[in-house]
Amino acid sequence: MNDSITEVINKQINTDADELARQRKCIEIAAQLVEDKSRNTGRDITYHVTTFGCQMNARDSEKLSGILEECGFVYEPDELAADVVIFNTCTVRDNANQKFFGHLGSIGAVKKNKKDMIIGVCGCLSQEESARAKILASYPFVDLVFGTHNVYDFARLLLIVLEQREAGEKGTVTSIREGTDRIVEDIPVKRNYPFKSGVNIMFGCDNFCSYCIVPYVRGRERSRPAADIIDEIKRLAADGVSEVMLLGQNVNSYGKGLDENISFAKLLDMVGEVDGIRRIRFMTSHPKDLSDELIDVMASSQKICNHIHLPLQSGSSRILESMNRHYTKESYIELAQKIRERISDISITTDIIIGYPGETDADVDDTIDVIEKVAFDGAFTFIYSKRTGTPAASMPDQVSAQKVKYNFDRVLARVQEISARQAAKIEGRIMDVLVEDVNRQDPSLVTGRLSNNLNVHFPGDESLIGKIVNVKLTQCKGFYYIGDIATGGDYGKVL
Ligand code: SF4
Repeated sequence: MNDSITEVINKQINTDADELARQRKCIEIAAQLVEDKSRNTGRDITYHVTTFGCQMNARDSEKLSGILEECGFVYEPDELAADVVIFNTCTVRDNANQKFFGHLGSIGAVKKNKKDMIIGVCGCLSQEESARAKILASYPFVDLVFGTHNVYDFARLLLIVLEQREAGEKGTVTSIREGTDRIVEDIPVKRNYPFKSGVNIMFGCDNFCSYCIVPYVRGRERSRPAADIIDEIKRLAADGVSEVMLLGQNVNSYGKGLDENISFAKLLDMVGEVDGIRRIRFMTSHPKDLSDELIDVMASSQKICNHIHLPLQSGSSRILESMNRHYTKESYIELAQKIRERISDISITTDIIIGYPGETDADVDDTIDVIEKVAFDGAFTFIYSKRTGTPAASMPDQVSAQKVKYNFDRVLARVQEISARQAAKIEGRIMDVLVEDVNRQDPSLVTGRLSNNLNVHFPGDESLIGKIVNVKLTQCKGFYYIGDIATGGDYGKVL
């Protein structure tokens, strides 16, 4: 590695601005290497980013793709054909980990015949010590491992790998941090959709729900200053984005720890003021922190979508206490009813875990009771996954697989029945739909999303993508709609 590159890579950094400048320099140097390689081989040098898990990871992957494209790599849809493959991983469930390792093994076999291939693993799985040790010990063909706290450092790490290759050196470049105060957000991003975008408003989580590994792999909660968030959203709006999704593990506690006096509700108000932004979504809300102020802002805003995702996890107060969730069955129902009373037609969706240690049939009866009383518009039901290092992993009374299956099936059946009933309530209405894509199964249709987050398929072509159009909801299919373009709209609130 020549001295000037070594100097850039190892430079002492004091501020976020210094870091951003360093990352841009690394991109510039990497772009030269990629251009040389492309000239020598007479073809594009390609990349593929494979994303697992949540919206936060999807947003991080857009940043990774943006950096790769600025470096001159060209997107390759086939993971196995790409020159650089980055896996942005999730470790929330153990069976997903096992599947990922199987997948990584198979790509290692491909790399045997494709020596120049660069493989990187980042995200929550590489942040977890035991999983990382397994990658390093059993998958030596992986070239780069980095964690959740240094996605912004990707250009520098990639440059180190590229330089290592130039020098004919081998070995896995590993960079894991246990935390960071750095919030370097102005790095290149390749958005998956030109008209909508995720925006990180905070990072990490301080809640330590007893089953959850996120606080251990994503670190302590840190909010971004409101002015930085609004600047980013203004830039997105100027670039054609009309829908933003504000992202955080617990958006309702946004603002804690900042010098300014700001709440999530106030931030939503500020986002609503940005010209060009027509829809605002957010994810995820913790019920314990959801304020009346937020409900008021949602009720009065014309831009905030008519949907809230409010993870229940369990309807049993006993289990909720053990989960460290800080609300009860009764307080959750009361909160959901208050939201429904204040915001007409609001869609409430949730997450439910089945098989948490010690859970009995009576606890699951309580969960079903909440499902019925709240009438969820949708629910993701998960089987409890034991995550080493969390308090729940060492609890006695782990529930048998047979019992879990019995309870999972009865919860799922109830959820599906009730959410289909909820969805059918708007059949026949004319509502606004943001068109997202041409339908994959039937190219004579386009697919869009209602404010309440339901998908609608209707006749149209790609010229509609990114537009908000009135659609008559002609046929409810349980969890999506078939419709037809219409004129006029009768959906009270949001676009
Ligand atoms: S709020 Fe609880 S479930 Fe959500 S990320 Fe934080 S610890 Fe995990």
